Amino acid sequence: MPVPNSTAPPPSERATAPGEPATRPDPAAEGLLTPVQFVKGVGPRYASVLEKLGITTAEDLLFHFPHRYEDRRNFRPLGRVAHGEMVVCTGRVLGATLERSARRNLALVKAVIQDSSGTAELVFFHQHWLRNTFEKIKGLEICLYGSGQRNGGRLTFQHPEWEELTQDENSLHVGRIVPIHPSTEGLTPKQLRGMIWNALDRYGQLVEEVLPPEVMEAHRLPRLRPAVRHVHFPEDEAQLEQARHRLVFDELFRLQCVLAIRKRSVADTLPGIAFAVEPKVLEEFRRSLPYELTGAQERVIAEIQTDMEGPRPMQRLLQGDVGSGKTVVAGAAILAAVRTGYQAAMMVPTEILAEQHYAVFRRLLEPLGVRMHRLVGSVRAKGKRQIKEELQSGFAHFVVGTHALLEDDVQFQQLGLVVVDEQHRFGVVQRLALLDKGMQNHSPDMLVMTATPIPRTLALTVYGDLDVSVINEMPPGRKPVRTYWKREQQREAVYRGVRSLVAEGRQVYVVCPLVEASEKLQMRAATEFHEHLQTEVFPDLRVGLIHGQMPSHEKDEAMDRFREGGCDVLVATVVIEVGVDVPNACCMVIEDAGRFGLAQLHQLRGRVGRGEHQSYCVLLGDPKNEEGVQRLEVITRTTDGFEIAEEDLKLRGPGELSGTKQSGILQLRIANIIGDAAILQQARQAAFAVVEQDPRLTAPDHARLAAALRKQYASLLLATVG
Ligand code: ADP
Ligand code: MG
Repeated sequence: MPVPNSTAPPPSERATAPGEPATRPDPAAEGLLTPVQFVKGVGPRYASVLEKLGITTAEDLLFHFPHRYEDRRNFRPLGRVAHGEMVVCTGRVLGATLERSARRNLALVKAVIQDSSGTAELVFFHQHWLRNTFEKIKGLEICLYGSGQRNGGRLTFQHPEWEELTQDENSLHVGRIVPIHPSTEGLTPKQLRGMIWNALDRYGQLVEEVLPPEVMEAHRLPRLRPAVRHVHFPEDEAQLEQARHRLVFDELFRLQCVLAIRKRSVADTLPGIAFAVEPKVLEEFRRSLPYELTGAQERVIAEIQTDMEGPRPMQRLLQGDVGSGKTVVAGAAILAAVRTGYQAAMMVPTEILAEQHYAVFRRLLEPLGVRMHRLVGSVRAKGKRQIKEELQSGFAHFVVGTHALLEDDVQFQQLGLVVVDEQHRFGVVQRLALLDKGMQNHSPDMLVMTATPIPRTLALTVYGDLDVSVINEMPPGRKPVRTYWKREQQREAVYRGVRSLVAEGRQVYVVCPLVEASEKLQMRAATEFHEHLQTEVFPDLRVGLIHGQMPSHEKDEAMDRFREGGCDVLVATVVIEVGVDVPNACCMVIEDAGRFGLAQLHQLRGRVGRGEHQSYCVLLGDPKNEEGVQRLEVITRTTDGFEIAEEDLKLRGPGELSGTKQSGILQLRIANIIGDAAILQQARQAAFAVVEQDPRLTAPDHARLAAALRKQYASLLLATVG
């Protein structure tokens, strides 16, 4: 076993001292803006892979922060791994086999590794290609991270994290707190880690402060340069926490500066619209519905109507748990806007959801005279052109779409209302960018909807100054979803349950195991799993498949077929996580459920329990760590979104090693809005104070800040800075 070296000098201390002559022919290439391909270890081929992650310069690489960490200091020789303990081991690959287990109907890859103290078996389900992967590195050393299971002396790891090792780099990848950076197809986290190390080594010294000195002082913030280094390669938890704190502050401060600047300029220059909504419009809307609105829906519609009628631009957050009926509320607002002569636009995070909303609104609003389109990336160029023309001329009243709506040439005649659904999937930047499409002589009204419960005080801070409406009541007749956690050995019983529901005419989602490594591998896992279920488990049933890598029309077809009852079981990845609404689907089986996050499990479960039938959610699997076990316990115990959000926060803990994982509420590199609420308050206060005193950021002390904001948020500054 290699000797872990956790005391390697931090990169910057080994870097060339400033006075030394540059060894490169081109001195300009030494700056932070050096194209990433010149960073040691990158080169042209990986440069194009990195581009997919939005990384084009050395600086981008420095600011590509880890999304989690693995504590690889807890080394164990294989012979000394205790049952259930999270450990790091290294060993040589002896070989790998592929088995089809008859009893459990599984494709099973087993790889064996060995060190001087013993051997261990690595087990992977539904990933048959791993056999070749391991065969190719036979004799080489790998590092693995996971919880070992002892079974009569035999040591196995189920689905451990692992990567190949080479002798000379070990200090970077083992024996320390190891950063895991978000990566993409064709680039392993390990390769990326090496590149970032090299970037820090050469360019880390060039990072400059952006925060004004008065803010640094008032909040006693450590300097940016060491923080950037330590967030990637911390020596211990304390150092990591300090680095994170600084970077979180930095990020939130910049964002809040933008909000402060916008708030001033919008308030000063653009009035809102006072929509003159006639009472009969909403009457007509109610009459056209196949059901009665709930009391909560009526209340929030009234709140929205009051906002729309007022002269200030509406800025309202509509919060309601999954299945509470937010869509129809949006429909009422859209109709009100259209009937008073304005256009409305609704942005949603996925194409599947755009299609589904389009279908819902066509049924709901077209009979009432609303002319509408849907605009998603996969619409053909010709169709797009026509949609854009009709939006620009004002012929079309309403458009629902994905971020395709944000393209420059999507313009409106008179955009009066912007709705953002599943807001937590978008960033502030995208929300504001859509709003800006209506900023000609007035500011449109804005309604953002989310199922993610956010404490009220926090919502105010996160979203600027949104007012909050809450739907706290489910449509009548809903039976709470019954949730069960079943172990792997109960799989057969779960399958029997699925079968009997199908026999009663119901439909079932099966969410296939999560493969985080890449979209392509996720697709392969889903495809293989589908094949397995269709041919071996349910040969007599109709099993459909939907995953994120399918072309859009195939996704639509698969979803339509399921919705129309054309298949009994739908094997799906998390593409169905948001919004999908098929009332006859009353059961969801989630494979290897311990790997999913709490919020994700809650969203997924929200796909069932949408009709009159008793619904079930079955969490399948034996989680490989304690956190996974706790998540499954929480999700089994409660269906209350607020409680789940709180538990999520507790389980992650703002300061813990994995705490930097994105919350998804904002598109932030490092901050977690819920976990970092305290820092957010401080950063917001500091930012608003700076902007109050220097609205155009022209003071010399603010020059770097102004430049940084211009670079990062150019389109949102409304040309008021600099
Ligand atoms: P979410 O808030 O998760 O977006 P949806 O708007 O998709 O929820 O609504 C969930 C389901 O409930 C849909 O099938 C919708 O038609 C139905 N629904 C909404 N409001 C009512 C109501 N007042 N009564 C009965 N069913 C309703
Ligand atoms: Mg919805």
